[in-house]
Amino acid sequence: MSRDIPQKARVVIIGGGVVGCSIAYHLAKLGWSDTVLLERKQLTSGTTWHAAGLIGQLRGSMNMTRLARYTCDLYRQLEAETGQATGYRQCGSISIATNEERFEELKRNTSMAQVFGLQVDVISREDIKRRYPLINDSDILGGIHIPSDGYGNAVDITQALARGARTGGVQIFQDTKVTAIRHDGEKVTGVSTSAGDIDADHVVICGGMWSRDLAASVGVNVPLQACEHYYVLFESVEGLDPGLPVLRDYDACTYYKYDAGKLMVGAFEPNSRPWGTEGISEDFCFDEIAGSFEHMEPVLMDAMERIPALQNAGIQKFFCGPESFTPDVRYHLGEAPELKNCFVAAGMNSIGLQSAGGIGKVMAEWIRDGHPPADLWEVDVRRNMPFQGNRKYLQERVSETLGLLYATHWPFRQYLTARGARKSALYDRLAEKGACHGESFGWERPNWYAPPGVKAEYIYSYGRQNWFEHSAAEHRAVRETVGLFDQSSFAKFRLEGPDAVVTLNRVCANDIDVTDGRIVYTQWLNERGGIEADLTVTRLARDCFLIIGGAETEVRDFSWLQRHIPQNARCVLTNVSSGMGVISLMGPNSRALLAHLTPADMSHHAFAFATSREIELGYALVRASRITYVGELGWELYVPTEFMAGVYDEICSVGEPFGLVHAGYHALNSLRMEKGYRHWGHDITDEDTPLQAGLDFAVKLQKEGGFIGQEALLRQKEQGVERKLVQFQLKDPEPLLYHNEPIWRDGKIAGYISSGAYGHTLGSCIGLGYINRSDKNVNESWISGAFEIEVAGRKFPAKPSLRPLFDPKNEKIRC
Ligand SMILES: Cc1cc2nc3c(=O)[nH]c(=O)nc-3n(C[C@H](O)[C@H](O)[C@H](O)COP(=O)(O)OP(=O)(O)OC[C@H]3O[C@@H](n4cnc5c(N)ncnc54)[C@H](O)[C@@H]3O)c2cc1C
Repeated sequence: MSRDIPQKARVVIIGGGVVGCSIAYHLAKLGWSDTVLLERKQLTSGTTWHAAGLIGQLRGSMNMTRLARYTCDLYRQLEAETGQATGYRQCGSISIATNEERFEELKRNTSMAQVFGLQVDVISREDIKRRYPLINDSDILGGIHIPSDGYGNAVDITQALARGARTGGVQIFQDTKVTAIRHDGEKVTGVSTSAGDIDADHVVICGGMWSRDLAASVGVNVPLQACEHYYVLFESVEGLDPGLPVLRDYDACTYYKYDAGKLMVGAFEPNSRPWGTEGISEDFCFDEIAGSFEHMEPVLMDAMERIPALQNAGIQKFFCGPESFTPDVRYHLGEAPELKNCFVAAGMNSIGLQSAGGIGKVMAEWIRDGHPPADLWEVDVRRNMPFQGNRKYLQERVSETLGLLYATHWPFRQYLTARGARKSALYDRLAEKGACHGESFGWERPNWYAPPGVKAEYIYSYGRQNWFEHSAAEHRAVRETVGLFDQSSFAKFRLEGPDAVVTLNRVCANDIDVTDGRIVYTQWLNERGGIEADLTVTRLARDCFLIIGGAETEVRDFSWLQRHIPQNARCVLTNVSSGMGVISLMGPNSRALLAHLTPADMSHHAFAFATSREIELGYALVRASRITYVGELGWELYVPTEFMAGVYDEICSVGEPFGLVHAGYHALNSLRMEKGYRHWGHDITDEDTPLQAGLDFAVKLQKEGGFIGQEALLRQKEQGVERKLVQFQLKDPEPLLYHNEPIWRDGKIAGYISSGAYGHTLGSCIGLGYINRSDKNVNESWISGAFEIEVAGRKFPAKPSLRPLFDPKNEKIRC
């Protein structure tokens, strides 16, 4: 019986797949019963109905594993709670390794899982054969077993979530298409539908592969593209047991699942096929795609090698369905930076079922509180650059990303598709110098330089990669002579106007009301004291500020500041990132080199640390800022884009006698790690406060007029922090740290590494990581005890330090 839709709701959810239903369920749990879910056809009729049903928990990062783990716990009890069967079965899972590097990846993930108590066991080839007798184990080195993994029925799970939501008061309307999202230019006001309009305070776009175009209709960027996604159901084979665990053979891009008396073989092939590039039919509802058997054939041939019994089994069902993929294989969650109260949860990259429980929970809390409940930066919709909604870019990139789900997650792995989107004015020149470019949010950036005779390309491994020694040489040059970095990808904003200083000082935790030409290192905090942004602010003039942030946070930082400019404030924020390139000269010889090129006085007396001014260089006027992210004397040169090539040529033409060396982002990283400089997104996030992060020095706690987060920090200062960021150096020079390695103190897990890199000056790996204060050491030093860091199952002693291990007194910088 059809019902009328209400005229008003607190929240409207668009899309009745597993994601939309889970958000509805969790909003109901929070007591937000005034929620309406609208589905254009029927619940699950988009992608959800054909999910294979795998529910795994181990992911590549802490918080993503936490979400998946919560999902598993939820599905386990959903049937008992709602009375709706879910088909959930805890059969466990096995992932196999057929080469050493894959085994190391699995072992590293196993180490990570311990931090939050997920049981993952490294198992032998014999054990794998015993647990999965159908397997051909001839090439298997070992694997991991996760006893609490399982599978479920996607349609039934979604219906159970919908039932739970309805019980909590949520109204669900099927055959009701949202035809428009309504807004007042600043925030959403509701939706128009095929059955009338609904006013709403919040709108959540959970429209699966339809989300990109729906969001784009209101200027919101949700870069995703559907791809064909395949599985094959083989007829029963002898020895098939309902108790078999889910089997993942990453190196052969396949998974195997018991499915009602048959064996399902699913694929994550490397060259997937974008689908629906000309649009999706209005009638799409529980549709399948014809797909291409030829495309799947190589995967199936491998599958028959892995499970020889399949060679004699017929194919019962060859299935292909569309699923949304994103440029970096991560979902898009959270409030859109372009439109207030417009939330997004889309782009599930074929793990939507196993993610939906956790996503529903965090999204409901995000909507309720106006901020994410934990650090979710890696999947935050604000990470996307506007250009990433470009269809040519998306279609090329997603053909690669589907396969990346099962590919080895090599450290520093680079995308092969859709490259060259954003290039610095020096790109060609640096390529000629041997730059091996890596990609970061579309930017091509030199990561390392190949010396003559060496190919500028990566050879991946978990050990020392082919560029290790070349980057080490760059690192040493920065410490000993001078290095040139192209940092044009920095985000650069100007805030100008009579109210600029008051507005910005309220947002910055440090005091930016300084004399003209001073540079202030500062964080932007949320009300809870968490670090939303980490940047420098240069006062160019009384009413004009230049704000410099990381490339990856350009959209987020701009939106954060823009949203904190009061309505009547007389100031204008402009993104000037494209207008200026940045050449950084870092190292003890940087002063002499620059002095050779400019009539300006570069002496310490005339050009102090943390000051900035325009100097003549070649034919250009460039802004020289004396600041560093590598712990050496140095300047960042902000150069109008059209002058970049000329300025660069001038520098190179005189560089040799000063020992000028081109240096890339890998060297930048190893240098900053030695100095203990934090990196936003890894070492500092919206969950961490400056007091926890050891950034007290950058906070003006008693600032007149106050700042966002001040009260929270004052409270925290009084109570003391419960965890603290510590720098570690491994005593053994061999093992390599990347991130997520558990930190042990006196035999107990105390935290994990947030970022790690080899310290070429210090002579072994350096890591940063938060450690918790245990009851035992309340009155002890944070770093008392015996510390070890676990790498792929082995523990290595580490020296902890609260002061930078390199140049703790800043003597190299302030000279
Ligand atoms: C072959 C295959 C196997 C898979 N196997 C697994 C697996 O084993 N494990 C796993 O975790 N995941 C798996 N997935 C992925 C999983 O199915 C998806 O990630 C998940 O279903 C996505 O859910 P969703 O809610 O985001 O999208 P959808 O299920 O597509 O839901 C979006 C809904 O929004 C509706 N909608 C769109 N526009 C509008 C509008 N304007 N108004 C109203 N409604 C609208 C659509 O009709 C649709 O029902 C698999 C996918 C495929 C294709």
